[in-house]
Amino acid sequence: MAVKQTAGRDALGEFAPQFAELNDDVLFGQVWSREDKLSLRDRSLVTVVALMAQGLVDSSFQYHLTTAKHNGITRQEIAEILTHAAFYAGWPKAWAAFRMAKEVWNEEAGEDAKARHQKEMVFPIGAPNDGFAQYFVGRSYLSPLSTSQVGVYNVTFEPGCRNNWHIHHAVKGGGQILLCLAGQGYYQEWGKAPRPLRPGDVVNIPPEVKHWHGAAPDSWFSHLAIEVPGEDCSNEWLEAVTDEAYDKLR
Ligand code: MN
Repeated sequence: MAVKQTAGRDALGEFAPQFAELNDDVLFGQVWSREDKLSLRDRSLVTVVALMAQGLVDSSFQYHLTTAKHNGITRQEIAEILTHAAFYAGWPKAWAAFRMAKEVWNEEAGEDAKARHQKEMVFPIGAPNDGFAQYFVGRSYLSPLSTSQVGVYNVTFEPGCRNNWHIHHAVKGGGQILLCLAGQGYYQEWGKAPRPLRPGDVVNIPPEVKHWHGAAPDSWFSHLAIEVPGEDCSNEWLEAVTDEAYDKLR
C-alpha cells in the first residue's frame, strides 16, 4: 500500500512544486511504499540512523522518530539502535538524538498526552463529562464557557472517543455550531461520508439532522459547541457509532 505524504505540498507546494512532488510522490509514494522489498519498520530504522548521523534534531527528525514508533520500533529497540549508531556516527549526536527519542517514546503516559493537548488551546479541558457519559463511547470532558444568552461549551474527546448519533431538534432556529480548537476529529451526518476536522474548521449542524462528532482514533480533539437558540429545542440521543463503522476511519 502506498504511503500517503503531503508534507512537501503542504510546505513547498507553491514555492517548489517539483521538489514537493518528488518528496510526496517519489520518496514517500514510491520508495517508502515498496513494503515488499523492505518493511516500513526497517525503513524507519535506516532513516532515523541516517538523520542522526548528520546531527539533525529538527522537526523532520522528530517526525521520523514518531513514524518509527508508529512502525513498530519499541522503546528498548530505539535505545539499542541509537547506542549502536553512536559508535559510528558520534557520541554527541547520540546524546542529541536521545533527548528527542525520550520525548517521543515517553508519550504513552495518558496524563502527558492530555496535558500536551491542553497546551494547544486557550480554553480549559474542564471536568470529566459524567452527565453525558451514557451518550458517548470513550471518555470526554466538558467545560461550560457560556451558560447565558447563548450556550457555549468546550468539549474534549480522548483518542477514539465519539458521541452517539443524535439530533438537535427545534421547531424554529436551533441546531449547533462546532468550532474546532485542537487535535483531529470527525463529523458525520447520517448517510454521508465522515468529514475530518482540524483546528480552525467550522461545522454548521442544522436542526433535525442525525449526526455524530468526536476524536480521530489516534488523536485528542476539542471543539467549542455553540447551542443555536431556537424554539422548543431538545436533543435526541440515538444509537452509538459502532466500532465497526468507526474503525473504518483508521
Ligand atoms: Mn451535535
